[in-house]
Amino acid sequence: MKKVIILILVLGLLTGVGRVLLTLPAVQDALLVRGTAAVAEGVGAAFSESTSLRVYVCGSASPLGMGQAQACIAVVTPEHFYLIDSGAGSTGNINRLGLPMERLQGLLLTHFHSDHIAEIYEVNLGSWIGGRPAPLTVYGPRGVDEVTNAVNAGYRLDRVYRTGHHGADLLPPALGVLAHKMISPGVILEDGDLKITAYVSEHPPIHPAVGYRFDYRGRSVVVSGDSNVSGETLKIVDGADLLLHDALSLPTVTALSEAMGAAGRSRTSKIVADVIDYHASTDSLIELGEKSDVDMVAFYHLVPVPLNSVLEDIFMRGVPDNFVLTEDLMRFELPIGSDKIVVNRP
Ligand SMILES: [Zn+2]
Ligand SMILES: [Zn+2]
Repeated sequence: MKKVIILILVLGLLTGVGRVLLTLPAVQDALLVRGTAAVAEGVGAAFSESTSLRVYVCGSASPLGMGQAQACIAVVTPEHFYLIDSGAGSTGNINRLGLPMERLQGLLLTHFHSDHIAEIYEVNLGSWIGGRPAPLTVYGPRGVDEVTNAVNAGYRLDRVYRTGHHGADLLPPALGVLAHKMISPGVILEDGDLKITAYVSEHPPIHPAVGYRFDYRGRSVVVSGDSNVSGETLKIVDGADLLLHDALSLPTVTALSEAMGAAGRSRTSKIVADVIDYHASTDSLIELGEKSDVDMVAFYHLVPVPLNSVLEDIFMRGVPDNFVLTEDLMRFELPIGSDKIVVNRP
């Protein structure tokens, strides 16, 4: 007992001494040097090269989601890097994942709802500062010109300030201006071993809205954007390894809308009820899984993001073993020459 008391006293003394030491400028400066060195070493270290097709969840949420970023998926191969959508909060996750922004080749938009386009400029800025060697191209269905031109115009002064401050050698003005390319359903890009195919998604009254399929050296992933399950979905997932699909928990959304109505919040109740008809219910995705040969279905753009394990269980009711619920910073690795899909949670 005496020993324990002495130990507590010594620890208390050391803690007290430590606290005093931390107030000394010389100690703070030494810690600052060590801390910043660790940060500098860590930049980019999180991203290690791999021969696999890799998929990163930069944003798993819909507008009905707290604590997670809105829609954003990254598809990376040794030679390619594309982002699909750029919802609010997604660039923070891109940085946390250490994705190589300097080699970003394109931003593929599924449609122009705000939860898919909020951070277009942040993506542009991050890759421009990172040293991207060519202007960033924004791909999307009809309307992509309007969105891209508006972003370019709205942030013109930001680009002028940054080039003025850091110099045109570091931030060439031409590389800060977004390019755009309007796409139609079908193969939109073939670059080496990568083929990207756009397909029509069902997200009424938004038309056109699209999803994308990536094929790379025998591995494939489909990213839906916002969509109900349709005949087009069934066609595009044929033979695909991984499907990341917009997913809505009908029991949760229905209960939420009814609760809002009962609480006298009729506007919110209607808005919540309205989302039901243009996102894929988990039941419709289970049915898609039964009808197709897709190997794994990952729910993203969660409507709503489940806030606890009970809501998670409700979201995942009845789903088979090859279905997963995504969260921000999750990674999927699809090794070439294999049919494995490695799921890494943060
Ligand atoms: Zn939408
Ligand atoms: Zn959305």
